[in-house]
Amino acid sequence: MKDSVTIVTGGAQGIGKAIAEFLADKGGDIAIFDIIDGDETAGIIRDKGRRCQFYRVDVADVQAVGEAVDGVVKEMGKVSNLVNNAGITSDKLLLRMKEEDWDRVIRVNLKGVFSCTKAVIRHMLKTGGSIVSISSIAGVMGNAGQANYAASKAGIIGFTKSIAREYGERGIRANAIAPGFIRTKMTDALDDKTKEEMFKAIPLKRFGEPSDIAYLTYFLISGYGSYITGEVINVNGGLYM
Ligand code: NAD
Repeated sequence: MKDSVTIVTGGAQGIGKAIAEFLADKGGDIAIFDIIDGDETAGIIRDKGRRCQFYRVDVADVQAVGEAVDGVVKEMGKVSNLVNNAGITSDKLLLRMKEEDWDRVIRVNLKGVFSCTKAVIRHMLKTGGSIVSISSIAGVMGNAGQANYAASKAGIIGFTKSIAREYGERGIRANAIAPGFIRTKMTDALDDKTKEEMFKAIPLKRFGEPSDIAYLTYFLISGYGSYITGEVINVNGGLYM
């Protein structure tokens, strides 16, 4: 990790923030791409003695992402790793799901992964690099009320395996993490009854923490994961196995 530069999308809060902070703890420099203010996270990382730049960018805006990635290379010298973490939900049963619910979720969760990955790979062709994309348990096993979200997260898995095959010979690895229920604003929104039901179904009887995803991300992009590519790793307390 030492002196590497990692772009973390959606790094202003939640899982992305935990990933950005842990990679900085391990000696990496960080660029945060987010549509909300990432200055707080950037400040925490700078206080750790690492470089951190915040870019306000919508991951699905191909042109803006291209410019932001060029900015990272210019200002921070290189791009070593990408963590595709930005994601949204718009949950509804299919019969109530509007076209805009479908389009919005696919645009951010799937097109965002396409645009960021394409923009960094240009820079990684000579140096190699590592890409970790945050999928979801919903993308692996489906979830009622999340057809749009599950489709976007399953799409990330096919995308990741294709990139792993296309760019392996260039020393670029691509992996996906499929979290189960992790304690963030996304899951805080669930009501107590739903949470109780979930705990019953999870063998470890609790939600995971953002740090659980950060540790695995570090493993995958550091030397420890150097022979792992095209994988989807479940982190879900046993909810799906
Ligand atoms: P969160 O809502 O707390 O954080 C998501 C971040 O993405 C926010 O900072 C948000 O501003 C940013 N973002 C949203 N749209 C964006 C866009 N167009 N461009 C740039 N940034 C954008 O969510 P979280 O729980 O931390 O989730 C992070 C990732 O993990 C998501 O991809 C999510 O689908 C996935 N995930 C979460 C859980 C969970 O239980 N929390 C489970 C499985 C997968």
